[in-house]
Amino acid sequence: MGLSDSADTRLSQEGAATVAADDPAMAADDRSGVLVAPLQTIMNWARGHSMWPMTFGTACCAIEMMTVGSPRYDTDRFGIFFRNSPRQADCMIVAGTISLKMAPRMKLLYEQMAEPKYVIAMGACAISGGPFMHGYNVVNGVDQIMPVDIYIPGCPPRPEALINGLLTLMKRNAAGELSAAQRYRLETEGHL
Ligand code: SF4
Repeated sequence: MGLSDSADTRLSQEGAATVAADDPAMAADDRSGVLVAPLQTIMNWARGHSMWPMTFGTACCAIEMMTVGSPRYDTDRFGIFFRNSPRQADCMIVAGTISLKMAPRMKLLYEQMAEPKYVIAMGACAISGGPFMHGYNVVNGVDQIMPVDIYIPGCPPRPEALINGLLTLMKRNAAGELSAAQRYRLETEGHL
């Protein structure tokens, strides 16, 4: 059974008012439930409430990352859905040791993602090579291959730490901050 027209209108008015209260750049018309805002503000709001991470798990940290996808942590409530396709994902989570042999494959997947895209380095190995940093075949941090937005320390970090990292990234997006890749590009072009 559908909602009556008046209940529908009341819900849309309340929804618009709630969204407008979250962001001063948006204005809600109390009678019609219409939301007026610059397109960029609406885009930032949407990006701040949705994140589709692609997983790149290679070692033990990946187990903690998989746990985040379980019902116990229920990341759907934040708008976070794992989407293991670079064409649709907007964030890559690198969890585990990266060897020199894996690095070109990781970079290829990163380059297949659409802009704006983000990278999370989860755990000591992804940040710096961790316990294996002196290995002849180990990349000493994924930021040597691609720009990293969020570093999550630990060996391994707990699932809560990864959720905190994802929420921090979403808050930055809602505030309209540039991604690490965008900042890097502007810096190398001399605009920052
Ligand atoms: S940081 Fe520790 S737990 Fe994570 S992949 Fe490296 S060795 Fe494993």
